[in-house]
This record gives sequence, C-alpha cells and structure tokens, in this order.
Amino acid sequence: MIRIGIGYDAHQLKVGERLIIGGVQISSDVGSVGHSDGDALSHAIVDALLGAAGLGDIGKYFPSHDNTWKGAQSRLFLIDAIARITEKGYKINNVDTTIILQAPKIEKHIPEIKKVLSKIMSLDETNINIKATTTDGLGIIGEGLGWASMSIVSLIRIT
Ligand code: MG
Repeated sequence: MIRIGIGYDAHQLKVGERLIIGGVQISSDVGSVGHSDGDALSHAIVDALLGAAGLGDIGKYFPSHDNTWKGAQSRLFLIDAIARITEKGYKINNVDTTIILQAPKIEKHIPEIKKVLSKIMSLDETNINIKATTTDGLGIIGEGLGWASMSIVSLIRIT
C-alpha cells in the first residue's frame, strides 16, 4: 500500500540572513527569516512526510514558540520526521519537490541539494527530485520578499 503526503512552506527573505535550501547554504544577497534556519524546502518535505503517515504537521512537533528550536538546523526536523514514519512502519518511496524563488537562480545548486538531502534522509538520490521555478516576477515571491517550497512524498509500508 502506498500513502501520499503533501507539504508547503514559505518564509520571508531579508538582507543579513542566511539562505539555506535543503540543508545547503546558498550564496545570496538575501536570506530566509525563520525561527529555525528558515529552510522552507526541508520544512515542506517534513510536512509531506508527516502528512503521508497521518502524523499531523511540523508545528505539532516543533512549534515556533518553543525556544528549543530557535536557530535549529532543519535537518534535525527531517531526521525526526523520518524516525516517526519509520516507527509507524513506513519507508520513503520517493520525494518530489519544487522550490519557488525569484533570485538567486537555484538550478546550479540542485545536484548538491539533492546529495545533501540524500545523506540526511538516508534515501537514494534516484528517489529524490528537486525542481526550481520563479513566479516570473509576479507577487511577493516575484518581488523577492519571500520564497516557498512544495513537496510531495510517497511512503510504502515495511512492517
Ligand atoms: Mg517553515
């Protein structure tokens, strides 16, 4: 049996912040504002994982009012979500994602992001897909005020 989950996340972009995407720091004039490291890609994947397993959402386990997670690396959230789905008897079949960011262009960073996510998630790179798009200058993302990510995950039962 296959289970599917989706995830979406968005963060503001501001000068003086770091831009971390899928655990990779990207050279950029602006960075992501967040309680943690603001990695919207990892957060979207966490929500998709939890959703597929029927485990709620990221805010349930890592609330932004909890100072424990202030400045936390989002890889911790991914590792935690995978432990939760494993405990429920599932393993990841595949992960697909879309990064929505006007600038900088992300295409050249995709191989590294994939490699890093593969390591964090102990998942073969062939089961991870990362896409990047802009909004063609439209809206708050187009104006560079924020960025977002979407993810969809399929899980298979192993126990
Ligand atoms: Mg987030």
